Amino acid sequence: MNSKDAEELLERAEALYRDHRLQSVREWKRRSGGLAVGYLPIYIPRELLHAQGVLPVGLMGGGDDLEVIRGDSYYQSYICHLPRSTLELGLNGSLDCLDGMIFPAICDVIRNMSGMWKMLFPDKLVRYLDLPQNFDREIGGKFYRRQLEELSQDMVALGARPLEEESLRRSMAIYNENRRLVRELWELRREEPWKVPASEFYLILRAGLVLAVEEHSRMLENYRMHVHADPGRKPMDQARVLVTGCFCEQPPLGFIKTLERAGCYIVEDDLVQIHRWFHRDIPLEGDPLENCIAAFLEDAVASPTRYIGDQEKGRELVERARRSGAEGVLFCAPSFCDPALLDQPMLVAAVEKAGIQWTGFKYTENLGQFQVIREQAGTFADSIRLWSGV
Ligand code: SF4
Repeated sequence: MNSKDAEELLERAEALYRDHRLQSVREWKRRSGGLAVGYLPIYIPRELLHAQGVLPVGLMGGGDDLEVIRGDSYYQSYICHLPRSTLELGLNGSLDCLDGMIFPAICDVIRNMSGMWKMLFPDKLVRYLDLPQNFDREIGGKFYRRQLEELSQDMVALGARPLEEESLRRSMAIYNENRRLVRELWELRREEPWKVPASEFYLILRAGLVLAVEEHSRMLENYRMHVHADPGRKPMDQARVLVTGCFCEQPPLGFIKTLERAGCYIVEDDLVQIHRWFHRDIPLEGDPLENCIAAFLEDAVASPTRYIGDQEKGRELVERARRSGAEGVLFCAPSFCDPALLDQPMLVAAVEKAGIQWTGFKYTENLGQFQVIREQAGTFADSIRLWSGV
């Protein structure tokens, strides 16, 4: 892949990121005649939808270039921004190509939103996907199985084909491959962060929310080829940081670029977390649905939206910091995000106990001013570079 191809790849990824009207999804539907169903962050089992011929379309709000007018009128001022912009997109017709919406259980805001969607869009399928908080296979596992079976029946009612074991196994293999490609780039970024700038990687991951998984895997492969071949990607004197808290509403792209320009290499983060929801591949042998359930119960990341006993809070964060060689942690949470902000004191305590430096910001997806962030992140990066280990 030459540098012009790479430039085009990144331009396409950015165009998809800014494509609120989901033109790529509309084209996919025209080409395939299939169904497309939207989902809110953080995680849904996309394999199931894929196995039934449905395109899962990840929605992460409106970013910084959507003017929210009507969406604001449905919410009080003290909640996060993502539901307002998502509602705006629904009300202005941007999402009308979606045949339904899935609202995974991650917080009260998303739960309430599923009810609002039902009232506002009565002709569309709305499914609240209740995710288990008990991780015993006999309890949470059985509960989750029922949820997935109901989800699959919903897809059939929309006109999708029934879920069959063999097609689910095939779809799981395709998603395993996709996650493996993401993990490879992830690891390359840990090793040589100058080769995989976080702002580029983020756009590639965002593209994976709207493209068919097969096309996204090709994009990941092409990007990987490019970063290996590009001689212009040279190391600089930057501080290695882990960015956490941004698992749902995403910061604007300018925020990520600002951290990089302020002297940070982002070597680990929570952005677009669905691509890294599992630590390992989901096994394909045996009952595929049961394997999806077991992976959710036993192999998912330690998210603030999953129950974790107090003693363990922060353990995985510290392990991630150690594994990635992060010299500091940036707590970056959306304003008014209960799951992120309620966990933060426990996570800060774990990070401090491990002797890792940290600082914190809050953001909204439509944040327009980055000067303060630049100064704070720059000072933090300088303090790591100049004084850590002194
Ligand atoms: S940003 Fe936080 S509070 Fe808002 S919908 Fe997402 S998880 Fe819920």
